[in-house]
Amino acid sequence: MKPEFIRNFSIIAHIDHGKSTLADQLLLKSGAIDERTYQAQILDDLDVERERGITVKARAVAIKYPYKGQIYQLNFIDTPGHVDFHYEVSRSLAACEGALLVVDAFQGVQAQTVANAYAAIEAGLEIIPVINKIDLPVTRIEEVCEEIENVIGLDASNALRVSAKAGIGIEDCIEAIIQRIPAPKGLPDAQLRALVFDSKYDDYRGVVTYIRVVDGTIRKKDRIRFMRGATVHEVIELGQFCPFMETVEELGPGQAGYLITGVKVLGNIHVGDTVTLQGNPASEPLPGYKQPKQMVFCGMYPIDATDFEKLRFELDKMLLNDASFSFAPETSDALGFGFRCGFLGMLHMEIIQQRLEKEADVDLIQTAPNVTYQLLKRTGELVTIDNPAEVPDSGSIDEFREPIARVTFILPTASMGTIMQLCSDRRGEYKSTEFLGRDRAQLVYEMPLAEIIYDMHDKLKSITRGYGTMDYEVVGFKAADLVKLDILVKGNLVEALATIVHRQSAERRGRALVKKLKEEIPRHQFEVPIQAAIGSRVIARETIQALRKNVTAKCYGGDISRKRKLLQKQKEGKKRMKQFGEVEIPQKAFLSVLEAG
Ligand code: GDP
Ligand code: MG
Repeated sequence: MKPEFIRNFSIIAHIDHGKSTLADQLLLKSGAIDERTYQAQILDDLDVERERGITVKARAVAIKYPYKGQIYQLNFIDTPGHVDFHYEVSRSLAACEGALLVVDAFQGVQAQTVANAYAAIEAGLEIIPVINKIDLPVTRIEEVCEEIENVIGLDASNALRVSAKAGIGIEDCIEAIIQRIPAPKGLPDAQLRALVFDSKYDDYRGVVTYIRVVDGTIRKKDRIRFMRGATVHEVIELGQFCPFMETVEELGPGQAGYLITGVKVLGNIHVGDTVTLQGNPASEPLPGYKQPKQMVFCGMYPIDATDFEKLRFELDKMLLNDASFSFAPETSDALGFGFRCGFLGMLHMEIIQQRLEKEADVDLIQTAPNVTYQLLKRTGELVTIDNPAEVPDSGSIDEFREPIARVTFILPTASMGTIMQLCSDRRGEYKSTEFLGRDRAQLVYEMPLAEIIYDMHDKLKSITRGYGTMDYEVVGFKAADLVKLDILVKGNLVEALATIVHRQSAERRGRALVKKLKEEIPRHQFEVPIQAAIGSRVIARETIQALRKNVTAKCYGGDISRKRKLLQKQKEGKKRMKQFGEVEIPQKAFLSVLEAG
């Protein structure tokens, strides 16, 4: 296919503004799927995506569309909107020449609209603003166009007006894509350079690698080389997603698709790598991607110790499909052998954990998440810490530094006062305010990341009754008066429950935490004291009273089925428990740290 008849674009937007629904319409209107195979948000095929109604993974799809006597091939990528998945978006943008910026006709420009639009501008893409949901009973189309011009600085005079749900304006949208988005450059006869922009593991075929050809042509049976590791493979299958996998004989410049080499070894394929031909290799690889920095860490331990190797294999598989997370083996006195895993944010962590349990069927104990810290030691050495248990004796620390994020809120002006108070309670530093119209404003703060990631989004949503949105990025590390808060259960230090807190809030946090743990840890045959301590100083204490009788004693003599049910229930409850000395601690207790604000 000649590059002049190819268009590559991403669909970007704030969450819920209708990206996936617009993708459905593009598939429908091009005839790639018919009404029968149609299913809302058809590209969101991961279990977690369908369950939560959000896009987690970017999807690349090729459709054909006749226009002025020519068949055009449109390759598009539906992307996730949530802040944790910026990395997915930025990778997708690098494989395109244009982007559809979808904006809800009522909600207007929101925090991730701005963040994603800037990323597209930075990537040098042609951006087509699309006002979606024009079928809503109440819309603010004119104001939304103004917001696009004022906040993002894009010309919105020729913004498209569509309803992805009702199928209005889709043809115009496709025509605009063909007319306005530049065709890919690149010569079919040049030395092959194809960008690996994603990959996944298929149990039957091994690794499926997603590529976008930049220069040259790749054909079935070619011997190819992944430039990073210089590993050589034969292309067994080449294809495109239309939206289901369809094989092709070759992919030329500007085309996106997949290749299968039959490699079952994970770890050979890297997102951002360049594929070239072994016989006629390119001299320079493509620029690739910046490696994202994981900012949230937690421990993941198999409940059943024999699952350790299985968990490692599953984590490798996950890494292949999501290069933005990381893991390394670690051991804990109490939890045994497990992994320290790094994520881009809390939602990312939840999604990975859920995917592991669903797709891999491994039951996990997950420890409370924490952000990374830097320690400047008295010796002058600077170390990065991603586990509170690693914090050394305070005597050896010169400076304790925490990550600082720049947070951008877009809110109704009526909620500004409350949000500003919340930010200052959380050690935020005010930066700027900009009014976006009569009753909305953009507010910028710099604030410790630890004060944002756990519940800031929920707080914002409840204060603004859903109308406020936020986005953040880490801008650096800053010294703060931080201490490690230890938890002792029946006199034993449970390192997996340790957290790092600001000294000012240590006592309040300690009290809240032991109280929460008292609720989460079941009663035992003996008394279980729970203490919070900084170093050797105990700052809070609660006691779980001993059980008085056996639970089954509650049942009347003959009621066997009830007794069985009770025992069954106990067994299920046990599934997610870990034994610490004599005390059993359930999974939920490890996460109490999050709730004990
Ligand atoms: P995404 O997060 O940007 O991918 O958004 P989705 O495509 O998942 O859509 C979010 C919600 O908006 C869904 O409930 C859709 O049914 C709804 N939606 C999408 N497009 C339209 C539209 O044009 N009109 C209306 N009324 N609702 C829409
Ligand atoms: Mg979506």
